[in-house]
Amino acid sequence: MLQMFYRSVLNPIRDFIYPPICFTCNQLLQDDEMRICRACWNSFAKMNPSHPTWVEIKGKFEAEGVVQDILSCFLFEKEGKLQDVVHLLKYRGMKSLGERLGLEIGERIVSDPIFSRADYLIPVPLHKLKRRERGYNQSEHICKGIATVTNIPTHTALIKRLKYTESQTQLNIDQRKENVGNAFEINPKCRPNIEGKSFILVDDVITTGSTINACARILVANGARNVLAASVALAQ
Ligand SMILES: [Zn+2]
Repeated sequence: MLQMFYRSVLNPIRDFIYPPICFTCNQLLQDDEMRICRACWNSFAKMNPSHPTWVEIKGKFEAEGVVQDILSCFLFEKEGKLQDVVHLLKYRGMKSLGERLGLEIGERIVSDPIFSRADYLIPVPLHKLKRRERGYNQSEHICKGIATVTNIPTHTALIKRLKYTESQTQLNIDQRKENVGNAFEINPKCRPNIEGKSFILVDDVITTGSTINACARILVANGARNVLAASVALAQ
């Protein structure tokens, strides 16, 4: 009965909400494609550890000394197709895109000996007002995709965002640091979950890394053994 309900009612609705067309180019999707067609995926600039942007951002983390390593899939280019995808995910309620992008990160995590052994994924938290405004935290949906591939559990209650920070895109690196300094706190109830554990902080796009650093700092201060960072993309 329930199955029939799914087949006859829910699936058609779902297909109506998410028609089988690419979110970025509107081409019809093949059966093995999800949300975004292969041609669009292939058009995103790929990231690897020797890319200058990766080297630069990793260097910034090393200078701060709390994030041990980073992992990312794409270069975030202004006006690029990936920018459209991230925009749909963050501001247009296309949560399933987060899962799709998370699968991509997950594939990279499973082939990395350090990342694959992390105890928890932590989506960078939104302030509760911003979360209420948006209705969801896009990074949680990215974590869902990562977890599908890696089986690493997601911990959403560990870190609380105290400050309601406006969009940081207009701020320079020092202003961003100032903006997110003391913006996070550990949920006291979850403190016992941190000691000796390894974490992957997950964000959609890493730009200066100041948000990730602020989260990493309080995890390390509370006894985390290892803090890593993963994102869909790195921005110059
Ligand atoms: Zn496409």
